[in-house]
Amino acid sequence: MIIEKIQTSHKQYSIQYGREKIAFSLSFNHRKSLKINVHPDKTVTVVAPKNTSLENIILRIKRRAFWIIKQKNYFERFQPLPSKRLYVSGESHYYLGKQYRLKVRKDSGQGVKLIGKYINVYTPNVHDTNEVKKLLQGWYRKHAESIFAQRLLFCHEAIKRIKIGQPPIRILHMKKRWGSCSKSGEILLNTELVKAPLHCIDYVIIHEICHLKIRPHNKEFYKLLTRCLPDWIQRKEKLERVVI
Ligand SMILES: [Zn+2]
Repeated sequence: MIIEKIQTSHKQYSIQYGREKIAFSLSFNHRKSLKINVHPDKTVTVVAPKNTSLENIILRIKRRAFWIIKQKNYFERFQPLPSKRLYVSGESHYYLGKQYRLKVRKDSGQGVKLIGKYINVYTPNVHDTNEVKKLLQGWYRKHAESIFAQRLLFCHEAIKRIKIGQPPIRILHMKKRWGSCSKSGEILLNTELVKAPLHCIDYVIIHEICHLKIRPHNKEFYKLLTRCLPDWIQRKEKLERVVI
């Protein structure tokens, strides 16, 4: 058996595409076609067949520039997809990744109950959509508080080998993020995350716990995240499709 030693020398280049600058590291080996990879930390690597001219490589990268930018944006995205809700009967609403139908029911008291495939909202004022919204949001918040606290315990235990103390969590409404972490080491979770499946909630919690060790989204961060949660990309992809 012949084991070929492939000599690679990585060089850094960048090209301008519209307003975007695409930086990439270039190496050569014995492959037959050019390979462009966009990594979760948004770095771009290009492997070209030996003897390909730099001019040709740049031309090829420019042709794929739109796709490269799209991939980079994809890895940047970590935010919910909002949908306009009217808070009327018949509308779908999500809870832990499952879809439920909203039923607004006239009642002397106020309350929310999950029964079968329905989220029942009880109120004396069935046409007051603001009140229905408030009742429903209160219900989501109450469940978010207990579920996130349970999942934090579970996740923290699951990755205890990375030795990060259990962080406090705070639940709040965020327009553009599922989660983040504060400078003081507190994990902030979007109330709306309770609409996503449990395995996606765990992903956000573990992602944020990893940030307590490594702040930026760099290679080390993704290495740590992969160590803690090898299937994080699948969970993230699922989360990208969650409509709130
Ligand atoms: Zn992050």
